[in-house]
Parts: sequence; C-alpha cells; structure tokens
Amino acid sequence: MARYTAAVCKLCRRSGDKLMLKGDKCINNCTLDRRPKPQRKQMRRRQRLSDRGLQLREKQKARYTYGILERQFRRFFSQAERQSGITGDNLLVLLERRLDNVVYRLGFTDSRSQARQLVLHGHIMLNGRKTDIPSCLVKEGDTISWKEEKTKTEYYKQLTESIKSKSVLSWLSLDKENLVGQVISMPTPDEIEAKFAGKSIVEYYSR
Ligand code: SF4
Repeated sequence: MARYTAAVCKLCRRSGDKLMLKGDKCINNCTLDRRPKPQRKQMRRRQRLSDRGLQLREKQKARYTYGILERQFRRFFSQAERQSGITGDNLLVLLERRLDNVVYRLGFTDSRSQARQLVLHGHIMLNGRKTDIPSCLVKEGDTISWKEEKTKTEYYKQLTESIKSKSVLSWLSLDKENLVGQVISMPTPDEIEAKFAGKSIVEYYSR
C-alpha cells in the first residue's frame, strides 16, 4: 500500500502550517518552532501564490494531514461530491471516519501514521473483527478494540496508563479500562479542527 515516506516536517514547511504529523515531537520539539524561517534558497522559490496555488496548497494540507496519496484522496472527494450537502464538509467528515484516524482520535497512538501501522499490522478490531484496512470508514455504533494477543505487548501496557489523562472528541467514547472505543455519532465539521479549507479543495477540483 503506497504512502508518503519522506521527512514529514518538510510537508509542514511546504504547507506553511504545523500539521502535527509526528505526535509528541510536534508539541515538545517542533522543527518549525526551532527554525521558523525557511532557508534562503527555499524563500526565493516561495513567492506569492496564485489562486490555483493556494487551492492546491489546501488540498495538499488535507492529504498530508490524513497521510493519503492523491488517487485515494480523489476517490474520497468523488464520494463527498455524490453526497448531499456541502462537499467540503462531506469530505472532512469522510476523512475523519477513516479507521486509522479514529484509532488516533481515541488516543491509541500519538500520530495518524502510527495509527495506520497499528491497523495494518492487525492490532485493531472493528466490531470484534480484525480489520487491517486503514481507509475503512467507521459508522455510528461501531466499536474499536484491540486484538486479544496484542493486549500483552509493552506498548499496550504503557498505553493503559498514559491514556488515563487523555480525553476524546464528543463523537467518540472510550472505555479507558479496557481500551475499547465507540463511535457514538457521526463527526460534524465544527467538531473537527481542520487545518485546511474544504471550500478551496472543492474549487481546486472544480476546474
Ligand atoms: Fe510538523 Fe510536527 Fe514536524 Fe512540527 S514537528 S514540523 S508540527 S510534523
């Protein structure tokens, strides 16, 4: 399964925003905080962006945030377009419903890329069944838990302690004793702190 593998801090710099792609490091030791200005060479290249450039930048921010490649992102966009309502909002909700994102939102990992690994390696169960597809969309009532044998790992043991101080978004619930999450409602765009503008993404693909 293809994914972006180069240094992710470069993506933040390119986007001009902290996309929080590296978990704890983003809070305690962010590269953009340490070196806020790009090197001179990059500065020269980064001149004023056209409207098209700005739209592209928003689209790329969304892709980088959720760690998905263009083809899959385009599929999500087409699905959002087919739904009723505002396409930009639909897109945001679809992205939030990805299983790897939900694993991250439940606090099982510090970053979405780590969550993706957990899912890919079969650590996560969706409604009691092993599911190793990070792009799988959750729905209301779904439960997300750990595979029995994975609960014996050191990572899981440490997580049961560290998760006590974490809270989850209002559309999710978490049993902190057994590390079982549930989707109690569909996310709404207001609840999701998006770092990108859905409207610009719609304009980008509308051309
Ligand atoms: Fe982005 Fe995190 Fe790197 Fe900062 S540390 S540049 S927020 S990925």
